[in-house]
Amino acid sequence: MIKCTRCNTEKEFNVAFDLSRFNGKLYLYCTKCKSNTEHEILGVYDPLTNRFIDKRELANLKFKSIEMD
Ligand SMILES: [Zn+2]
Repeated sequence: MIKCTRCNTEKEFNVAFDLSRFNGKLYLYCTKCKSNTEHEILGVYDPLTNRFIDKRELANLKFKSIEMD
């Protein structure tokens, strides 16, 4: 899930990449604002477990992956 920081519209965002690299923010086109706006990353759905992972947990996962490297 991501949220437009300008109009606060929440939308689903399917990702096949590591969102944590964006520091919780990314610029995307918002259909409501009709422009590219900053979006806050609220979390993602893990397709492997069908589970919602919020941004705090994402940060922990990132931390773990760093540890394993
Ligand atoms: Zn917007």
